[in-house]
Amino acid sequence: MIEAVTPTLPARAAADPLKAGLRAILNWLERPISDAALDSRIPHLGTAWTVDTLVEAADSLGLEVSQHNVTLADLGPVPCLLWLKDGSVLTVLERVDAQQVRALLAHQMERPGRLQLADLLPQVQGQSLALVPRRAKPDAAQPLPTEDVGALMGRRGHWFWGPLLQSKGVYLQVAVAALLVNLFAIASSVFSMTVYDRVIPNNAMDTLTALLLGVTIIFACDFVIRSLRAYFLDMASAQADASIADALFEQVLDIKMKVRLGSTGNLASVLKEFESVREFLTSATLTAFIDLPFAIIFLVVIYLIGGPMVWVPLVAIPVMVLAALAVQPKLRALIKESQEGGHQKHAILVETLSGLETIKAMGAGASLRRRWQEAVAHQSHIGLQTRMLSQLTGNVANAAQQFTQVLVVTAGAYLVQKGQMGFGAIIACTILAGRAVGPIAQVTQLITRLNQTLESYQALARFMAHEREHKEGQTFLERPDFKGRIEFRDVVFSYPKTTRPVLDGVSFCIEPGQRVAVVGKIGSGKTTVAKLILGLYTPDSGAVLIDGVDVRQIDPADLRRALGVVMQDTWLMSGTLRQNIAFGSEFVSDADVLAAATLAGVEDFVREIPEGYSLRIGERGEGLSGGQRQAVAIARALVARPRMLVLDEATSAMDSAAEEAFIRRLKASLSGQTLVTVTHKSSLLALTTHLIVLDKGRVVAQGPTEQVMGSEAVARSPAA
Ligand code: ADP
Repeated sequence: MIEAVTPTLPARAAADPLKAGLRAILNWLERPISDAALDSRIPHLGTAWTVDTLVEAADSLGLEVSQHNVTLADLGPVPCLLWLKDGSVLTVLERVDAQQVRALLAHQMERPGRLQLADLLPQVQGQSLALVPRRAKPDAAQPLPTEDVGALMGRRGHWFWGPLLQSKGVYLQVAVAALLVNLFAIASSVFSMTVYDRVIPNNAMDTLTALLLGVTIIFACDFVIRSLRAYFLDMASAQADASIADALFEQVLDIKMKVRLGSTGNLASVLKEFESVREFLTSATLTAFIDLPFAIIFLVVIYLIGGPMVWVPLVAIPVMVLAALAVQPKLRALIKESQEGGHQKHAILVETLSGLETIKAMGAGASLRRRWQEAVAHQSHIGLQTRMLSQLTGNVANAAQQFTQVLVVTAGAYLVQKGQMGFGAIIACTILAGRAVGPIAQVTQLITRLNQTLESYQALARFMAHEREHKEGQTFLERPDFKGRIEFRDVVFSYPKTTRPVLDGVSFCIEPGQRVAVVGKIGSGKTTVAKLILGLYTPDSGAVLIDGVDVRQIDPADLRRALGVVMQDTWLMSGTLRQNIAFGSEFVSDADVLAAATLAGVEDFVREIPEGYSLRIGERGEGLSGGQRQAVAIARALVARPRMLVLDEATSAMDSAAEEAFIRRLKASLSGQTLVTVTHKSSLLALTTHLIVLDKGRVVAQGPTEQVMGSEAVARSPAA
């Protein structure tokens, strides 16, 4: 459908009408989404919206997009976007009656008005894009019942089965192809039987030529259908692959911070399990499974040709299946252990690589090497056991398969001697028995693989089940502008899987434009306050309010756009300096980047570098000093001119001259933005007018700096 839409409509329509039209329709469906949230869902930031972008965004929001011809008599399904002859885009929301529709021009997000179809249809360019909630019938643009909204918000339904089900047509074709291929297989056995029983005794060489020709044609068809089947399977899995990989990455980015994911290496390794699931979906392995049910066809034909000979494969098949089932529980446990061991090994590797400098400096290589050796030894031990078990099942299957052939021939000889059938039947039944038990033998050999895939799928499913920031069915009110008032109301918070509250009844209110320092001893909860303001975590009880609205009701994308943040651990990514400064704010101009860089002090050192802002920095900011990294992080926080600034020990790695210059410049440039700085340095207090003093997760003093400094509580809390 996506391909069908693109070529006939203007490929690069004006930037905003399409986006505005989509938002208008989502509003109409009572599933409003903010501008920023919409941008955060699609990977096309910074470029104009094309029809492709629209289709992708609508699809990820649970809308089905289809293209329709608009005639003078018929508008097609609604809601839809219409291209008018004057180039503008009209959003039609619903039919009011047979003559009228409710619509609005996409670039005016005001109240929709009524339009007479008789006036409208002659102005349409010819085509419309209908955007209909998935699972709803066209024209059913009524607000959806709440339980349906949840189902629709998911990206193409279930993260794994959704994309696969999209290709259900292909899988049906593959099944039909499998049926044909297996029916063709009967041909060679019938051919042999006829040659032995009819052609040779009667010396009918003409018949033989005709038979040979027929079989050749059948084999040619078989070849074509097999190739097509493999191609279709690969196509379907490639399509699903992209969607599933995208859903996994979306989950990585959207997962709630309160979910404890374990080590980075471990998680990366779990995500890599997807490779194993994908491999399984490709042709070679899956066809063995698809062929399984067709064993019945061969058994029926053996019965028709050889009568009681069918008992041989009928006994062999359960023997093979039972052998496979008997080792299954042990195999499953071993594979689970092996995969967990693999994740562990990967975690050690990633941790070592990311801390290589420190590890070398500390001379701690030996202990890590020991951990690595233990993990490797454990995994290879498990691997050996797994291989032995799966080889055992494979060998049983192999023996059963060979024995089947021998027994079929033996039984055949017995029956021929009794005159119940001809020689040809023995040949035919031997071939057919081979075909009947073949897929089962193949599957038992693939049983390790099947278990690995199941384990991988389950590991991924557990990861996908973690709570997300954008929950299914949850809609946020749009808040494009914030004044910058930050309030904590009796906030109690403890980190996940810990019992002791880190914040215990914290209340304060920071007015728009106020400049506040949060101070206190190490571990008093200052950084946690900053993380709660950012909505990275939510309080166990009480509330964090921005402009009087609970942060839980604000779209995280809107919130983070309004907040400039420098975290304690400066994180830069590999790329140019400019990319790092504009990271997360793709629409900023070069002038904005330069202004932010000057303010943060980046300009002071960039001036002396020949590459300037094109300087490439390595992973985590390698190539820059600690202070320089902090300056880049500050520039990144300032570049989009946010209403609120949260600085957590933002200048800890700067020398006093750089810090002083930054404080001076920032102070001069602040005009009404709210500033919250978490610090234990008195130098940063020059920026602020108010203090909040924390001790053991409680506010012990707050108010204007001079007033707090003189208070008794601060006298007892030396960190302030
Ligand atoms: P501060 O910034 O005042 O030094 P933090 O707010 O960083 O203190 O931490 C407060 C307390 O919370 C500390 O005792 C710390 O051990 C604990 N803590 C911080 N981060 C986490 C976390 N991710 N998981 C569990 N406990 C944490």
